[in-house]
Amino acid sequence: MIHQDIKFEKLDSHIRQTLKKALYHNRRVDHCPACNCREYIKYGFYKGIQRYKCKVCGITFSKTTNALWSYSKKDTRTWMEFIELLLEKKSLRFCARKLNISLVTAFYWRHKILNSINLDITPDKLRGVVHIEKTIIRENFKGCRNIKSINISRDCPINLRKNVWIIGAKGDDDSMFVKPLFNSCWNLTTFNIKLYSKIEKDSYIVHYDDRYLSQVARRHNGKRVLKVEAYDNLRYFRSNIKKWFKVFHGVATKYLQRYLSFFVLFKLDLEINSINLMFQNLLNGDKFIRTNRIRFIKNHLY
Ligand SMILES: [Zn+2]
Repeated sequence: MIHQDIKFEKLDSHIRQTLKKALYHNRRVDHCPACNCREYIKYGFYKGIQRYKCKVCGITFSKTTNALWSYSKKDTRTWMEFIELLLEKKSLRFCARKLNISLVTAFYWRHKILNSINLDITPDKLRGVVHIEKTIIRENFKGCRNIKSINISRDCPINLRKNVWIIGAKGDDDSMFVKPLFNSCWNLTTFNIKLYSKIEKDSYIVHYDDRYLSQVARRHNGKRVLKVEAYDNLRYFRSNIKKWFKVFHGVATKYLQRYLSFFVLFKLDLEINSINLMFQNLLNGDKFIRTNRIRFIKNHLY
């Protein structure tokens, strides 16, 4: 007797399971998530996914442990569709409606994914021709309930919102540094520690007429003058960042870094799509972030 599966339910569930298996197949596991030791043995399979047992602390774990969406009740396909929509910069409301998940879930997922991207893309070194530019934005308390208590802080009695300095830098490598480095005014010490230390000695710094960065460039380059093509993502850094934040209807300062990492991912012109983002970035390493580490704020749901 042939069992019919007219609605393709079995096929659909098979595809979901196969997708999950394929996704985890290449995930690197190199330590026990509980005690961090490297002594563990293979311990059978669960639903086709390899399990392990730690020889030191005895816990069992699998290739799915501490993955980005470990413990999520939603299936892999929904996550992938969500990532696709995120890459299309769709609003949370749109994602929630389309994937039949709650707005709150969509909010957490977006932050989990942005947090993972953030862990991955910061360059260790900037080499070759290094373009740098800055932009200053106003502190943004979007979604914060105690805005009054923040505004009356002792540091800024007149200007209610501090300036946040975002510095962007790109060398010859396929990565870009974009971070909020300091508040209020230019701080050379912090600049040197957080960014200049990453720039290799024999590199050449290109600036875009910012008075602080031009000093840095002059000091670094000495007498060298190279004719270098401008890097538009940094030449128009200010308007690029402004446009980017507009897509999200403004970004709260405390989430700034996550959205800046997302910006980098887009601007690097890497060929990204939900599939390779998932396979190459989101799946490897301990990306799991507990929902209670992301503060949920109601009027953040744009
Ligand atoms: Zn262990």
